[in-house]
Amino acid sequence: MANYPKVQLHIDGEWRDARSGKTIEVINPATEEVIGTVAHAEKADLDEALEAAERGFAIWRKTSVFDRYKLMRKAADILRSRADAIAAMMTAEQGKPLPEAKMETLAGADIIEWMAEEGRRAYGRVIPARAEGIYQLVVREPVGPVAAFTPWNFPINQVVRKLSAALATGNSIIVKAPEETPASPAELIRAFIDAGLPKGVVQLVYGVPAEISSYLIPHPTIRKITFTGSTPVGKLLAGLAGQHMKRATMELGGHAPAIVFDDADIQKAAKTLATSKFRNAGQVCVSPTRFLIQERSFDEFLETFTSYAKSLKVGNGMEEGVQMGPLANDRRVPTIETLVQDAVGRGAKLQAGGSRIGNKGYFYEPTVISDLPLDARAMNEEPFGPLALVNRFSDFDEVVQESNRLPFGLAAYAFTGSATTAQRIAASVETGMMTINHLGLALPEVPFGGVKDSGYGSEGGSEALEPYLVTKFVTQAGL
Ligand code: NAD
Repeated sequence: MANYPKVQLHIDGEWRDARSGKTIEVINPATEEVIGTVAHAEKADLDEALEAAERGFAIWRKTSVFDRYKLMRKAADILRSRADAIAAMMTAEQGKPLPEAKMETLAGADIIEWMAEEGRRAYGRVIPARAEGIYQLVVREPVGPVAAFTPWNFPINQVVRKLSAALATGNSIIVKAPEETPASPAELIRAFIDAGLPKGVVQLVYGVPAEISSYLIPHPTIRKITFTGSTPVGKLLAGLAGQHMKRATMELGGHAPAIVFDDADIQKAAKTLATSKFRNAGQVCVSPTRFLIQERSFDEFLETFTSYAKSLKVGNGMEEGVQMGPLANDRRVPTIETLVQDAVGRGAKLQAGGSRIGNKGYFYEPTVISDLPLDARAMNEEPFGPLALVNRFSDFDEVVQESNRLPFGLAAYAFTGSATTAQRIAASVETGMMTINHLGLALPEVPFGGVKDSGYGSEGGSEALEPYLVTKFVTQAGL
């Protein structure tokens, strides 16, 4: 990409390089070429960011909710107006097809608007008192400066959910955005700055993730942390947050079961789930992963699903018609290779794909494996790639047991023609989100979050604002 920007930090109202002048290279995963650099923040930058966040919080918490709402709406409009240019940056740094990158950018604007509007309805309440002349008020206040840590799979979406929930509720925030995909989240922040956000309300940093989180989380300025990423890192950060009594939202890994009963529309189930599986090359925390198909429908499902996987056009996301781009970084290819070799070595059947494509760019074939033993690594670890695992089940109890076998509980999918089965499966699967007979997750107005090792807290719906507010009880006698 010819005009990929030199990505800077944003601290105390200023776009600038790191104090040390250090940078990190940004690589295009489709070509393996260095396309730019991102500023590498260290302690001196973080100290300035923390001080600015204190000052920004003092200003923003006193800004009326109506003014916050108006500014956020303006930022959403700016983001939309720049969507084409931002999408091109995102595809260059992350790999996803250009239309997906544009959709993510536009969806970011919708999220900003939802949170801005919801912030106006963050009501407290009045509790009837036991004596005359007493008022008992429940007041919601912003929690305080937030530290947000976001990953590379959805460079804008992962930031915008945290940023707009924090801003709608009157908080300042330090965003540690992904070093591998830094330009598109920087453009999201720029939309807010250009809309007139006061200085100090948002800071943007990049660097060594562990160095930044271990400095910011214990720091007294930071009152809340929010993280999206893998379960092991989430446990580490949640532990640190707990040790320092910081509130935390954790959006972690998943291993979603996709259950198809014999009474479902099998063609619709196979096509719908296949589209979902290979979106963003499977690097999606809610991606359907364990396809559990009832015995009679197994062959039909597998055939339709596999032929879809084989038909996908894989390539540079900048090229027209490409449906799946490369994996986002060089770590993903060997991870997927290892999981496939392990499964096949244990007797599973390779139905499609199973190999790296070419020797330039992190391309991997859309891959379908069936008949996996439960001890295959892929059946237990989040693959986070274009890998579909298809197994069969005989009855309801068996499929519930398999769905709930793993410690994860983020998303689950089911297809059935029976309203009773739909109700029973929704009630039986341990999951934060369940979508039945269609794909309906991740809209701004619906809750988004997991249970068990998939984390806690919600990043969507009215629930998304809760973690950014604290409750103050005020009781007052008449004068
Ligand atoms: P990783 O586990 O090292 O990192 C995951 C994310 O956490 C990255 O964004 C990274 O920058 C960040 N991170 C790592 N250590 C950190 C620390 N000490 N403090 C703060 N942030 C830290 O692995 P990875 O190779 O980047 O990603 C692979 C795995 O991460 C995947 O298998 C997947 O399970 C998970 N992941 C999940 C999501 C999601 O949307 N839930 C997104 C990206 C990655």
